[in-house]
Amino acid sequence: MKVEFCRHNITPVDRRALDKTLRGLFISTGSEVAVFEEKLARHMGAPYAVGVTSATAALHLALEALGVGRGDEVITTPMSFIATANAILHAGAKPVFADVEPDTGNIDPAQIEKAITKRTRAIIPVHLYGQLCDMRAIASIAKGRKLKIVEDAAHALEGKRDGYGPGQLADAAAFSFYATKNVTCGEGGALVVKSKKVRDILLRTRAHGMTKDAAKRYGVTFSQYDMKEYGWKYNMSNIQAALLLNQLDRVEDNLQKRARLWKTYLKKLEGAQGVGFPTISPGSRSAMHLFTVWVPERKRDVALAGLAARGIGVSVHFKPIHLMGFYQKNFGFHKGMFPVAEAIGRKTITLPFYPTLKPAEIEYVSVSLKEALNGR
Ligand SMILES: *Cc1c(COP(=O)(O)O)cnc(C)c1O
Repeated sequence: MKVEFCRHNITPVDRRALDKTLRGLFISTGSEVAVFEEKLARHMGAPYAVGVTSATAALHLALEALGVGRGDEVITTPMSFIATANAILHAGAKPVFADVEPDTGNIDPAQIEKAITKRTRAIIPVHLYGQLCDMRAIASIAKGRKLKIVEDAAHALEGKRDGYGPGQLADAAAFSFYATKNVTCGEGGALVVKSKKVRDILLRTRAHGMTKDAAKRYGVTFSQYDMKEYGWKYNMSNIQAALLLNQLDRVEDNLQKRARLWKTYLKKLEGAQGVGFPTISPGSRSAMHLFTVWVPERKRDVALAGLAARGIGVSVHFKPIHLMGFYQKNFGFHKGMFPVAEAIGRKTITLPFYPTLKPAEIEYVSVSLKEALNGR
């Protein structure tokens, strides 16, 4: 048996929408993107959404639009994909890490407090595996000190906590539509924001800071444009938007499917020696993006190899960012600085998890994990 780590969810409906766009004349940023943005904003209960090329671009662009840059510090978690910290560097600011909660792997609000200095300007909480961070606590820390909040919601489009979703207790929330994410167009991203002023900045800075976007420049008649501010090339295309549009209608349905598969996994792994799970906090609805288990550190790499040898796609979420060579070399980070994140980094294994996964495959993965942990 072969169980891939990920299988995307692009269906005939999405292919038809893409085909329709390809038969049209304009395939860069145009009407499909606008329709997608409206639909995403409505879906998230946010005033505005802006489509970009990746979550990395979204995080970077949000920091820029919120005035975060050179000389500023941004607090985030080491327990994330490198994109989160790299986006801070893209903005010219300095990433400052705060350690995570041992039971969830999410950034610990108490550690955020300790990491704040005179230079702190923003916080990027990352909703690990799909469970939202304690946004009420983080928002109250930010409010007292006038810090900006940009959520990295790459795992958590469907997440809710204390009744709030991504973007509702923050200045902006960033989503990823990368190949392995719950909603995908191969590569893509978006922001939701509350402020019209910020939205208008984002619409310009995602396209070089031009005063008119391409659809308008190449409309019926050519029209002149100016560049009044600095910008990047991060605009989402109609091709990406066409693939994404209809997936939003299936988000809840797919979450329910994953919730059932999640239960099946828990049942199959019940009582398995040394297998632990991140806790879902009370009042929290996880987006259930990744099914991650925590196993004894000394067995982890053997188990990864054992699963791979059985044809099972596995991954590690995450090796902490501060232990990456570049960050150690350039910022003096070293082992021991964020012990909770480091411990998770040594014990974590992510198993295949998506709506089309079959119960028999979960059975196979679960048996394989137990065998691999027993050195078989
Ligand atoms: C996937 C991911 C990103 C980056 O998304 P891209 O769209 O590939 O830029 C950022 N943060 C987290 C937590 C992710 O998992």
